[in-house]
Amino acid sequence: MAIVKPIVELVHEYLERVVKPGDTVVDATAGNGRDTLKLASLVGEAGKVWAFDIQDSALAATEKRLKEAGLRDRVELIAANHRNINKYVAPGIKAVVFNLGYLPGGSHSIATDPDDTVAALNQTLDLLAEGGIVLIAVYWGHPQGEAEKQRLADFLRRPEMKEWLALEISVPNREKAPFILLLEKKKRGKV
Ligand code: SAM
Repeated sequence: MAIVKPIVELVHEYLERVVKPGDTVVDATAGNGRDTLKLASLVGEAGKVWAFDIQDSALAATEKRLKEAGLRDRVELIAANHRNINKYVAPGIKAVVFNLGYLPGGSHSIATDPDDTVAALNQTLDLLAEGGIVLIAVYWGHPQGEAEKQRLADFLRRPEMKEWLALEISVPNREKAPFILLLEKKKRGKV
């Protein structure tokens, strides 16, 4: 099997390494529910997934996927902008996933917004437990994508972000290929 895998699979592999039964986690962009389903399978019966989306069609698709897998009970589906994430979710979160861009199969005019993304990300960093991770799959081939990519780069280059462990996984041999940003909240006392 190839070592170099599609973005979605790599995101799921990182989630598998970090998310354990009983954890609380967030999908900030539920979309068609693939990440929500993965998170729901990892947190087990005792865990909880908060899944946000601003499109009812996305939440309906996610709900259908969860019901088919018998995992609907462990997921809170929230019809809200993720920039309000901290109005719903309490600190102690183990993982947060952002999958930026537009809903596959949906309207290309509704994509993630740089202001909302950065606002949500800011709150997310405060909500994470020590050792928790944020995974951002950046699909930036759409019209607003370039601006969003730049805002994320500016956000990550702020001096205070030096406190975080950060990694970028990109595809150097394809134009405008999606890439992954991974942030990990350091455990106290660890360098
Ligand atoms: N993770 C999804 C999956 O596994 O199918 C794909 C997500 S799709 C690329 C991006 C989603 O983000 C869309 O469904 C869109 O409606 C949603 N979205 C855009 N802006 C948002 C916001 N401010 N808050 C919450 N969801 C948002």
